[in-house]
Amino acid sequence: LEPKEEFEHSSLAVDVMRPRRSDPPLAVLTQDSMTVGGALVESTRYSGFPVVVSQESPRLVGFVLRRDLLISIDNARKRQDGVVGASLVVFSEHPPAQAPDGPPPLRLRGIMDLSPFTVTDHTPMDITVDIFRKLGLRQCLVTHNGRLLGIITKKDILKHMAQIANRDPDSILFN
Ligand code: ADP
Repeated sequence: LEPKEEFEHSSLAVDVMRPRRSDPPLAVLTQDSMTVGGALVESTRYSGFPVVVSQESPRLVGFVLRRDLLISIDNARKRQDGVVGASLVVFSEHPPAQAPDGPPPLRLRGIMDLSPFTVTDHTPMDITVDIFRKLGLRQCLVTHNGRLLGIITKKDILKHMAQIANRDPDSILFN
């Protein structure tokens, strides 16, 4: 992200984040209620997934990269330590109680980023871009009153910049 490219002051995180209104909902993992087989890795192509408390309580717990999730699931299956499609994927510190005859859980707290960067939906994009540059971020999450709303990737920002440039080149030059 080049420092000379600046934003119109009116752009907010909510204008750039995904999903847009017409998109499918944000793909999230829950901290202790998904199975290895249902963990979204195969059904979506996103590079990462926010982890939330539960579908009913969309509070952010952390962020997991797709690559790390795939490697961990693959390793667990190779080690043959009983992890199967029906095993729970557990990001919480303590796994929930399970049926005694059920498969062992796959505990993945260790691969989760416990403090992913977040901004609120009303954070101006010039501030968000500044943080992306300074911290070298690939993505950041967007919240409203503690509820997870969306995600902004570096590519989303670049696309947004290109859109603004096409719409109104002067606002870039004189900002
Ligand atoms: P990139 O933006 O570099 O292509 P991704 O492949 O992760 O990275 O994301 C593709 C698009 O999907 C981006 O617009 C991004 O905002 C969005 N996105 C990323 N992760 C998720 C997710 N977990 N749920 C919904 N949308 C996502």
